[in-house]
Amino acid sequence: MTGGREDGPEFDHPTEKCGVVGVSLSDREAALPTYYALYALQHRGQESAGIVSHDGFQQHQHVGMGLVGDAFDEADVDALHGSAAIGHVRYPTAGSVDKSCAQPFSVSFKGGALGLSHNGNLVNADDVREELAASGHAFTSDGDTEVIAHDLARNLLEADLVRAVKETMSRIHGSYSLTIMHDDTVLGVRDPLGNRPLVLGELDDGYILASESAAIDTVGGELVRDVKPGELVVLHEDGTGYDSYQLVEEPNTAHCFFEYVYFARPDSVIDEELVYEVRRELGRHLWREAGVESDVVMPVPDSGRAFASGYAEQAQSEGEGVEFAEGLMKNRYVGRTFIMPTQEARERAVRLKLNPIKSTVEDRAVTIIDDSIVRGTTSGQLVDLVREAGASEVHVRIGAPPINAPCYMGIDMATRDELIASDKTAEEIAEEIGADSLSYLSLDAVTDAIGKSEADLCAGCVTGEYPYDVAGEASDRDAERPAIDAAGDD
Ligand code: SF4
Repeated sequence: MTGGREDGPEFDHPTEKCGVVGVSLSDREAALPTYYALYALQHRGQESAGIVSHDGFQQHQHVGMGLVGDAFDEADVDALHGSAAIGHVRYPTAGSVDKSCAQPFSVSFKGGALGLSHNGNLVNADDVREELAASGHAFTSDGDTEVIAHDLARNLLEADLVRAVKETMSRIHGSYSLTIMHDDTVLGVRDPLGNRPLVLGELDDGYILASESAAIDTVGGELVRDVKPGELVVLHEDGTGYDSYQLVEEPNTAHCFFEYVYFARPDSVIDEELVYEVRRELGRHLWREAGVESDVVMPVPDSGRAFASGYAEQAQSEGEGVEFAEGLMKNRYVGRTFIMPTQEARERAVRLKLNPIKSTVEDRAVTIIDDSIVRGTTSGQLVDLVREAGASEVHVRIGAPPINAPCYMGIDMATRDELIASDKTAEEIAEEIGADSLSYLSLDAVTDAIGKSEADLCAGCVTGEYPYDVAGEASDRDAERPAIDAAGDD
């Protein structure tokens, strides 16, 4: 199944594919804090989890399928020696669900041992792979992480660490937040547009890099700051500090706006904004732009919660007598392992997962709030559920603009054909899902709530214009992929 998986952590939502971690400590084994940090990033990938550590002499690795808790047992973590480690949680696209694709990717070469964890997606991986293959590099997977690893390994044979990373950054094009381990040195790199998040934190006895600040909180660390777009951060092997190198500078950034809307944990701070507050602000905007009179406002759990509370708060502050209620109860124990080949089975799965509280909705006008609609397949079933529970009216409000184009930056979204908003207006979608009304939020409201200009955000899945040079697609800036054969091999 492609995109907007219905068997994901939330129904019919885009799917983030990865979370990354890097830890360097003075004396302690790094594997356990890395494991806990991965736990905190579980929402970013549930298909596989892995850690690579280094004890100063050799690399140790463990990767497993499934959730972090299933992929590791105590003995696995104990066997990962060394005070340096990187980790990864992954949610690959359909077809590549096997252990060979699990990360961190690791490779030994003449220049030492290399481990790599990647969040994002390169749009020129094929160009770089072809060039590397022509110069004798053999690949074991079709993933872009291996491409970065090989390119970096080649550069490390000829240059120091910083120059080698810079050379690789000049050749790869696309979205990447990386944690890398070269022997026992841990590094973090964020692509020049900062598409995916990456933060730096401090522990009592070392430093940590992670996709989100919630992972730093989980291991008792303090958020230091975001890794800057185009920056390389090198953690000291003895855990006493870090060095920063601004390797590439671009006039604008392209932070993924969907990190704020859906992917990131609400308790994470990304590019200096608390995600929970951004979501509440999006909800307030949603009321101002598209508020509809109703008796009760309810979130689609869990993703719609902060939006709905902001929406209801704004409505109430303007004198609306609307109630905010958790009227849809989620069965937390329905996993994502359902096989749903038929429409009937899918409908049953929605009922297993969500149940309306009858007394909250009966004979009342209800507004359901969610953050996005991908294919719209489950929205109609949700509206049906609430109507069957007795609602007199069902309105749907979405805290983001319509998604009508695919993502090439590492988000499992759906193809254009599958995206319900790609060829339908909000009125047509309302009719299709059986809602009395449906409204989305404007992109202006999103930029306002995030506090960044549209020029510094990626909104490719909304505008169809991407911040990178994607084959066959328009760009919203002067983006050009590097000419790979110019770098050549020697
Ligand atoms: S296309 Fe959409 S999901 Fe993909 S990076 Fe851009 S904003 Fe995020």
